[in-house]
Amino acid sequence: MRFSALIVSLIIGASIVRADQAGVIDNSSSPHVTFRSIGIGDCRWTDGFWAEKFQLCQDVMVPHMGSLLKGDVGHAYNNFKIAAGLKDGPHQGMHWHDGDFYKWMESAVYVYAINRDEKILAELDEIIDVIGKAQLDNGYLSTQIQLGAPEPWTARNYHELYNSGHLLTSACIHHRVTGKRNFLDIAIKHADHLYETFQPQPERLARFGFNQTQIMGLVELYRTTGDKRYLRLAEIFINMRGRSRVEPGPSVRHSTIGDMVQERKPLRMETEAVGHAVLALYFYAGAADVYAETGEQALVEALDRLWENVVHKKMYITGACGQTHHGASSRGDAVHEAFAGEYVMPNLTAYNETCANLCNAMFSHRMLGIHGESKYADIMELVMLNSGLSGISVDGRQYFYSNPLRSIHGARDYSALNTETPDRQPYLKCFCCPPNLVRTIAKLSSWAYSLPENGVAVNLYGANELETRLCDGSTLRLRQETDYPWDGAIKITVQQCKSDAFDVHLRIPDWADAAQLRINGTAADVVPVAGQFAVLTRKWKPGDVIELDLPMQARLMVGHPRIEEVRNQAAVQRGPVVYCIESPDLPKDTSILDVNVPSDIEWKLEPGISELGNVTALRGTVLLRSEDNRSMYRVLDESQWQEYEARFVPYHAWSNRGLSEMTVWMPIVWR
Ligand SMILES: [Zn+2]
Repeated sequence: MRFSALIVSLIIGASIVRADQAGVIDNSSSPHVTFRSIGIGDCRWTDGFWAEKFQLCQDVMVPHMGSLLKGDVGHAYNNFKIAAGLKDGPHQGMHWHDGDFYKWMESAVYVYAINRDEKILAELDEIIDVIGKAQLDNGYLSTQIQLGAPEPWTARNYHELYNSGHLLTSACIHHRVTGKRNFLDIAIKHADHLYETFQPQPERLARFGFNQTQIMGLVELYRTTGDKRYLRLAEIFINMRGRSRVEPGPSVRHSTIGDMVQERKPLRMETEAVGHAVLALYFYAGAADVYAETGEQALVEALDRLWENVVHKKMYITGACGQTHHGASSRGDAVHEAFAGEYVMPNLTAYNETCANLCNAMFSHRMLGIHGESKYADIMELVMLNSGLSGISVDGRQYFYSNPLRSIHGARDYSALNTETPDRQPYLKCFCCPPNLVRTIAKLSSWAYSLPENGVAVNLYGANELETRLCDGSTLRLRQETDYPWDGAIKITVQQCKSDAFDVHLRIPDWADAAQLRINGTAADVVPVAGQFAVLTRKWKPGDVIELDLPMQARLMVGHPRIEEVRNQAAVQRGPVVYCIESPDLPKDTSILDVNVPSDIEWKLEPGISELGNVTALRGTVLLRSEDNRSMYRVLDESQWQEYEARFVPYHAWSNRGLSEMTVWMPIVWR
């Protein structure tokens, strides 16, 4: 008896250590990862770009979004109140609106993890109480179904499992940060219901998963509770895909079948990222979570292929994914909000849903954990500084759903394009993207570092303080000082560490050709290689200083020769930031199509543009030529160039100065 009590206390002791250190994905005990997560709140931005964004997130983005979703504009909380019998009225909002609300709650928890404002928890407790009342006795919870739509689990496009996924994830994060069980208990009751419904694997539900966030949620719940049924169920949702005949069925609408929902081929056999980009990338991210626990080789090989396919054949220079609003897959299925063919990269009509871009970063974050290679963190950064952040305005109150790389007045009939808009909107009827982005900004400091077996990896740069425990339990404190991404000088000071030797992995971004690395003022004996981690191993002591200088010259970028849409065009990138040119920075009435970039353009920096969020702009002389747009084709004539010194702004900061035209890619004038 005494012995078993000891065992129990050891197990409890171990689980306390885990919970204390649990990250945004808790891979602290996952057998098949190379890098583990730091604890939520271990890293805090101190000043500079990400500190300002986090501050805005805490002060404006999260509270403002809360007021939308709890009020009558968003109506998300109302749906729960009505389902709980506390209010009258119909369900309003999209079928996935519960999931949007859980994402906002998750954002609030991340903010609490940093600022420990007890008012946040008190409000969440109130909300959780209402959600608990809305939940059915059998654990079912999805208000759009409870308030009048079809019977539960009969029509997959109702997104019940999407709501499930965000419920489980949000509740796990809430438990991890607060130690409270109130939200977690709702999630467990719901997951048990999912297990009872899907684990027998009834044929009628064999194709039921749609936007499969439930896979990530179930793995996180397994990690939180240790209950293996949830991991088993997560794996079942992967195995079900691609197993059935693809044809319309009672629970399957005709327009959303086949490649659109990644059911044409089993995941382990797949070679191409297809279909709805958010569905695909959430599916892959969930499968990466399953792999981290099971170590199944066929699964990770498929994920490796798919990651390469996305990043090297279907991704925009901004890290964005999902080239088309409507189209067809390479196997002929109608697809929507989706990946198109390889190297098919339109700019004006690029869809690039904010969620898809963020999912690309989420998938990459999981692959970073699995393989410990810096190329994954390159994508996380690329997305966050470009096509992720473009989803929200500089004031934190307006949102883009779609993130094209070019915008031209009058070129598109936006009245027919529901989710595509010429500028950011104060509310989106389909509200999946805004809380997805806000929760990612709120948790981004947790992505900044990882824990290799014996040391720490620096994934993202930005001024911060880290206080974490290495995998052996020893305390590590670091201070990072930098004005990145506007300046490439990064200084990391060791403040506290164990006396034994350990590794510091520094990401050398794939664009950093000539990085310089010094330890305590002396050149490091490790040569930094772009696109890899530089691994510094030594007995560190408090006061040791690592200095990394990344080359930050602005450069013209060109695309793969098979991308027809950017043939003989260039984009501008400085460090990880992609720039664009926007009509407020051109002479009045100049079309964005009239802008050409000389191949020998020289750049001047214009730092601290406060109206655009203290970004660094670039200035360079472009060549303007008025294009004749009256006929489809015309004879090439002699060009009349007008030189003009124009300002280029970071892509993420466009559309903050009224309705404008914008382009990332410009024709090159070779000189
Ligand atoms: Zn979205």
